[in-house]
Amino acid sequence: MNVYDSERMGEALNMAGYHPVDAPDKADMVILNTCHIREKAAEKVYSELGRLKKLKDINEDMIIGVAGCVAQAEGEEMLSRAPTVDMVFGPQTFQALPDMLEELADNRAEALEQNGHIKKAKGVVRTSFPAEEKFAPLFETPRQPLVRSPAAFVTVQEGCDKFCTFCVVPYTRGAEVSRAALEIEAEVISLAQKGVSEITLLGQNVNAWHDVDAWYDVDADDIGLGQLLRRLAQVDGIERLRYTTSHPRDMDDALIEAHADLPELMPYLHLPVQAGSDKILKSMNRKHTAEDYIKLVDRIRAARPDIALSSDFIVGFPGETEEDFTATLDLVKQVTYAQAYSFKYSPRPGTPASEEAQIDEDVKSERLARLQDVLNAQQVSFNASQAGETLEVLFEKQGKKLGQMVGRSPYLQTVHVDADETVIGKILPVKIEKAHANSLSGNIFGV
Ligand code: SAH
Ligand code: SF4
Repeated sequence: MNVYDSERMGEALNMAGYHPVDAPDKADMVILNTCHIREKAAEKVYSELGRLKKLKDINEDMIIGVAGCVAQAEGEEMLSRAPTVDMVFGPQTFQALPDMLEELADNRAEALEQNGHIKKAKGVVRTSFPAEEKFAPLFETPRQPLVRSPAAFVTVQEGCDKFCTFCVVPYTRGAEVSRAALEIEAEVISLAQKGVSEITLLGQNVNAWHDVDAWYDVDADDIGLGQLLRRLAQVDGIERLRYTTSHPRDMDDALIEAHADLPELMPYLHLPVQAGSDKILKSMNRKHTAEDYIKLVDRIRAARPDIALSSDFIVGFPGETEEDFTATLDLVKQVTYAQAYSFKYSPRPGTPASEEAQIDEDVKSERLARLQDVLNAQQVSFNASQAGETLEVLFEKQGKKLGQMVGRSPYLQTVHVDADETVIGKILPVKIEKAHANSLSGNIFGV
């Protein structure tokens, strides 16, 4: 979602006369779009700001902005903690960037007049939550993608009302809001006209998306993600659809049926479970048990047998015993994932779990390593199962090596082939010759 938000900031700035450069030392303005989800991500912001300060010492006109969830959480405080920062703005406010720049220019002019120097100029802070307006300006200004890629993100839903006890998202991204179906469709059509063939619908709880307005001819008063996907699959030029991230509680029948019926809907699903112990799931406020999750996976696999599953896991949540952790390992072994993300629990300010007695760091590290051993082995074996197969690959860009092109399989694996740039944007069959831990390589069929 931050990638998508950054693209949209780029578009807004492009209209204000800015254009992208490839390194911070060539820039008049640098914006860090930040993540607050774990402490490590949030800490990075300050080390990065230290580096940018050196550039600003040379070029004092340079504007430094901090956007996203760290900005939202710290607000005004960030200006005193890092005086090199000129603008602090949360994830719901980036469409006001041109306004903020005007305000900053005024502040700088005032400082110049009063102190003879722009250094003391007042910073600009925007951290309000005009949630219902968030999507409106996005639609008023049609999208002008700066980077042409055959795969694009489209945000359909923002925020979260679920309040898992470990998570800052409901506080930094605000309440759950769905974007209107017609707006989403219009954005997808305009992307398709620019050559985009794969769309990933985004949301913190993407499958909580709903459109209660009577939208099109469907016999339902509350239209969910399954119906939206059906509609988008009909857009000319759209060959592939994905969505992320889903909450197990919002996987409804219509969405599962879409996996059975829609060839455009790719056989890959990121469905975070977090833990395998019911006691831990309860104290995380996930509102599902391990068995609920396993039954759900069975229903999804019945609809789309080849679906590749992915998940998020947290180890070392307060109260997690060895027995609880073993339940997570058991769940992983039972479900079998194509890939997954796993994290040590990181206490976040203001969240209920951060007030509980914490698990020892060494225990967390040891559990994470054991979990990752199992998950990595599953990923290696999933990739290995594709050696010798022919997969449809959408080519997105050049690889790191000369003459190498990179694309994605239907299961979201990275696939490398030797080919020239003319394959970019095309979906071509690739015979997989080699499976690696994190990618596949092969030859375009018939070449
Ligand atoms: N909405 C999604 C997840 C969004 S956050 C869902 O409900 O599944 C992305 C992932 O970060 C989460 O799934 C969780 O595994 C991880 N995460 C969130 N807060 C965390 C914390 N305090 N410590 C460690 N990992 C965390
Ligand atoms: Fe965070 Fe996801 Fe839980 Fe919402 S549902 S609180 S985003 S982990």
